[in-house]
Amino acid sequence: MRYHAFLIKYAEIGIKGKNRYLFEEKLCDQIKLALKRCEGKFRVARTSGRVFVYCDEEYDYDEVVESLQLVFGIVGICPVRIMDVVPPAELKSAAAAFFGEEYKDRHLSFKIHTRRLVKNYPIDSMECNAELGEAILTAYPETHVDVHNPEVMLYVEIRERIYMYSHIIPGPGGLPIGSSGKAMLLLSGGIDSPVAGWMVAKRGMKLDATYFNAPPYTSERALQKVIDLASIVSRYTGPIYLHNINFTEIQLYIYEKCPHDELTIIMRRYMMRIAEMIAKRTSCEALITGESIGQVASQTTRSLAVTNEVCTLPVFRPLIAFDKEDIITISKKIGTFDTSILPYEDCCTIFVAKHPVTKPTAEVIRRHEQNLNEKIDEMVQRALDTDEILVVDRGHVRRLKAREDMLQEGQ
Ligand code: ATP
Ligand code: MG
Repeated sequence: MRYHAFLIKYAEIGIKGKNRYLFEEKLCDQIKLALKRCEGKFRVARTSGRVFVYCDEEYDYDEVVESLQLVFGIVGICPVRIMDVVPPAELKSAAAAFFGEEYKDRHLSFKIHTRRLVKNYPIDSMECNAELGEAILTAYPETHVDVHNPEVMLYVEIRERIYMYSHIIPGPGGLPIGSSGKAMLLLSGGIDSPVAGWMVAKRGMKLDATYFNAPPYTSERALQKVIDLASIVSRYTGPIYLHNINFTEIQLYIYEKCPHDELTIIMRRYMMRIAEMIAKRTSCEALITGESIGQVASQTTRSLAVTNEVCTLPVFRPLIAFDKEDIITISKKIGTFDTSILPYEDCCTIFVAKHPVTKPTAEVIRRHEQNLNEKIDEMVQRALDTDEILVVDRGHVRRLKAREDMLQEGQ
């Protein structure tokens, strides 16, 4: 086994005291979840303020690294060689051998950083740096030391055993899922909303999602596309409870009763209302949308204000100031882009007006919503009652039979 463990680096700013403990606990939980799918046996442990993944059996290095790279909260993954404590002379040759294995082309500058955590080791950290540096220079004359701007580092920690590592593979950063509560993502089949969900999840929020479906105006393929998007996002977040809401009769009713240039905005207000009702029932503390200033008529500042008015939960719009190009870059990075651009109809595109309002006023919209008074409450209730819940988890989809099941699952 080339590496015996992985040292997990995380950003520590702002997570002192009790928060730090909770943060580390969530991080360890998420790491364990991520490693469940990997071959091998792993132990995740917190040792003197560091998180280690110990590999107790043979494992697939690439698979483990790829899995850890999906865990929010991790900023660096360091593959570690662990050995018994040996006298300095033996440590020198072990360090040189390890360095040689890590770098095949050794025309590079390096620096050693030793931490001696057991004070009875015969030489101190500074002496260790000098001795090990000399050993490497002797073994590989093409290297040189640069203490200010080294190309590579060799870290050595002398504890109850000796730990050595040199590479720091970048992690996704952020905060571990579950450390900031849970939010409800309004997930459409577009490019933006999966990215918005991913960004908020990266700040430690678990995700649920709501999709407004309009059968038969939208096809089964459109729903499948949304499931596929949720599935990709769930690689980072763990299982997502996706609420598939039948929105058809509400859309048709709005179409029948309200001015057509206000359709989108009124429809969006009902989406937000319904998503919020589900959010509150499932302990979500915020809503998330993929809106961005000026992207379409329903996303002018005025339209956003009118949409926002119906919500009492905070609405997170992480893409609000992003250009489409920047959103696309993230969607390619997280792997949702190719699915997002598949052409299946989304419910909004079917009922769009030729000239939607860009400067709605809340009073006018509220007045026109009165036209819906007769039936809208029962329609909203029916939409909630027929909520189809799909648990989407990295390629696996499970349909919950009834709402009771969800409540039983402690949602
Ligand atoms: P996306 O924003 O995901 O690319 P879009 O641009 O087609 O899709 P818009 O019409 O701009 O979506 O809607 C703005 C936001 O409203 C979306 O980002 C999403 O959060 C939410 N939304 C729109 N349509 C739906 C839907 N059918 N189901 C759930 N949420 C939706
Ligand atoms: Mg959009």
